[in-house]
Amino acid sequence: MRTHYAGTVDKSLQGKDVTCAGWVHEIRDLGKLKFLILRDLSGKIQVTAKKETTTEDVLSLLDSLSRESVVSVSGEVTLNDRAPGGVELIPKKLTVIAPSKSPLPLDPTEKVPADLDTRLNSRFMDVRKPKVSAVFKIRAKVQEAFREYFLKNDFTEINPPSIIAAASEGGTDLFAITYFEREAYLCQSPQLYKQMMMAAGLDKVFITMPIFRAELHNTTKHLNEVFMLDAEMAFIEDETDVMKHLEGVTHLMYDKVYKECKDEIGVLGLDFKVPKIPFKSITYDEAVETLKKKDLPVKWGEDFGSEALKALGEQFKDPYFITRWPTEIRAFYSRPLDDDPKRCGSFDLMVGDIELSSGAQRIHDPKQLVEALKRKKLNPANFEFYLKSFEYGMPPHGGFGMGAERITEAMCELKNIRECVLFPRDRNRLTP
Ligand code: ATP
Ligand code: MG
Repeated sequence: MRTHYAGTVDKSLQGKDVTCAGWVHEIRDLGKLKFLILRDLSGKIQVTAKKETTTEDVLSLLDSLSRESVVSVSGEVTLNDRAPGGVELIPKKLTVIAPSKSPLPLDPTEKVPADLDTRLNSRFMDVRKPKVSAVFKIRAKVQEAFREYFLKNDFTEINPPSIIAAASEGGTDLFAITYFEREAYLCQSPQLYKQMMMAAGLDKVFITMPIFRAELHNTTKHLNEVFMLDAEMAFIEDETDVMKHLEGVTHLMYDKVYKECKDEIGVLGLDFKVPKIPFKSITYDEAVETLKKKDLPVKWGEDFGSEALKALGEQFKDPYFITRWPTEIRAFYSRPLDDDPKRCGSFDLMVGDIELSSGAQRIHDPKQLVEALKRKKLNPANFEFYLKSFEYGMPPHGGFGMGAERITEAMCELKNIRECVLFPRDRNRLTP
């Protein structure tokens, strides 16, 4: 249907016949001259029909054409300094492949702005905008980098279930589903399963899968369906072995986007920099001290609020770690430090005030794990299948989980996380 993408037709093709196919971006009728701007995924090309030299068929089709219809145009590449890119197509044949209805649900040329709800309701048309498709190309690159990094480092990709019988972290943010005669839940994290594979001797695993959280608050950073990038590794000395890989994969994500998404970075007008490694790191205690000095309300043993995270984030331009969190506010499987059990070997990777990832060294001693469950008022009986895997030789291990959306949101400087999800799921949105 096409010999060339619109964006690749340049002066070197002068005098040659090419065929382009795509959407009708714009039509302008100046009487003697008719212009059609054809858009495809690579860019745009101007098609110029002069009354004297163009066939009646082509001219009448141009008259009846509606914006955003799918067409193919064959013609000769001609130089024209006034055309975008310095070339235009003189049409010999025009075919309407699929006409578009009018009026359009939104304007893909962005002359008429649309709010996020309108855009999400007609996402298929919204993604026709280069600024929107650029975000999804960057997100795809982030996910590609994740897989590339862990495959290169000899991690095995595994596939845990998405339907589970009990909460992995005991939270209240579970979606219940009907599973034949009983109730089951959608997975909120592959945590327990990837840990069990440490007892299986796989040593280093990674996972990419959707997870589901019934978060009640509708924020610009929270979704109810998240695409999780997870990794877990055994035979670690402490959490810093895991942090090295989280740092390595995050760096590769930025580096690959920087090198392989130059057009998208340009379209989005980003001042994109690859962060330097090693990333800076502060302990939770140091973060509390910093915030106290700034007269912000913080209390040791509590999570940081959005104001506190903003203040912390202002001190670092690149991603940074917050380490050694109070054991009490982290997930039950986080391993308390041997010489300081009030604190645990857990960490968050932040960029500005956005949490990119959380991870930790995990408890691998079964007795300690049962105690930890009880301290969190969780019933060990619900975790029998998990606990069993700790009783027959479980090596020391740790890992992290990272939402693909958070890092895309940060890289693309998006104001709302929904911008980098094709069909976001939130409290109010279940379709399309
Ligand atoms: P937050 O404190 O920001 O709500 P969390 O600490 O509850 O996140 P974790 O359980 O640590 O989230 O999940 C690991 C990672 O998964 C997070 O760092 C984030 O990248 C991503 N993530 C978790 N929940 C969400 C969500 N509701 N929306 C988008 N991303 C999420
Ligand atoms: Mg977290």
